[in-house]
Amino acid sequence: MNLLEVKNIKKSFDDLEVLKDISMSVAESEVISILGPSGSGKSTFLRCMTMLEKIDGGSMEYCGKEAVNSDSGVPVYADRTTLKEIQSYYGLVFQNFNLFPHYSVLKNIADAPIHVQKRDKDEVYAEAKELLRKMNLEDKGDYCPYQLSGGQQQRVAIARALALKPKMLFFDEPTSALDPELTAEILKVLKELAAEKMTMVIVTHEIGFARSVSDRVIFMDGGVIVEEGKPEDVIDNPKTDRAKAFLKKMQ
Ligand code: ADP
Ligand code: MG
Repeated sequence: MNLLEVKNIKKSFDDLEVLKDISMSVAESEVISILGPSGSGKSTFLRCMTMLEKIDGGSMEYCGKEAVNSDSGVPVYADRTTLKEIQSYYGLVFQNFNLFPHYSVLKNIADAPIHVQKRDKDEVYAEAKELLRKMNLEDKGDYCPYQLSGGQQQRVAIARALALKPKMLFFDEPTSALDPELTAEILKVLKELAAEKMTMVIVTHEIGFARSVSDRVIFMDGGVIVEEGKPEDVIDNPKTDRAKAFLKKMQ
């Protein structure tokens, strides 16, 4: 069974049609990179899949559980309990880290497992410390986000997402706010997660990284999936002029 099955997603903002009939499936342990020019709808696609944005048409299933269907012609979302359950399946990491500025690093990581998942506080803090060790930040638990570099903040954001024990993670340009050295730190963490078989969907402009870590690459342009396949096909041998032109600019 696929972890995620998205079919015929449509999304407009007023008259602007941003997603035009997009379908994608994500299998367990799969790493998918989404590439594409700015404005092609990549973030909107992630926001729709993670239900931060409502779709105008199409359907989505997580682990066989229906989040939304459009059988009646308009999208109908599942009830709150089902949506809450589905939302616990995935985590999301943004470009700008989005940490709580007035919380310590440890509190940033532990807050949702304790208050949303109602898990045992001592157990959660022990796991949070373990996650910080994994992110090479074991000495930063009592710091506040502003005392950390961008790369360190992003690693806290990844630890925060992992603390909720998701089945899969979405990343929206996780390195685009970082300089090259800090970018490398984050890409290393993502590679380690891929090696541990974490299921991931990553919007990125890091073509070399996408080639080395992805099972599948999706190239989006103008709100549609233009090409999709193995990295060596999509990145090294693109078929369409649009993908060729974009990749040429990026490399
Ligand atoms: P990408 O992430 O590929 O750069 P986005 O999904 O952010 O693309 O944006 C795709 C298009 O949708 C852009 O033209 C953008 O201006 C528009 N858009 C995105 N979010 C909104 C919004 N909340 N309201 C209006 N237009 C939006
Ligand atoms: Mg974007």
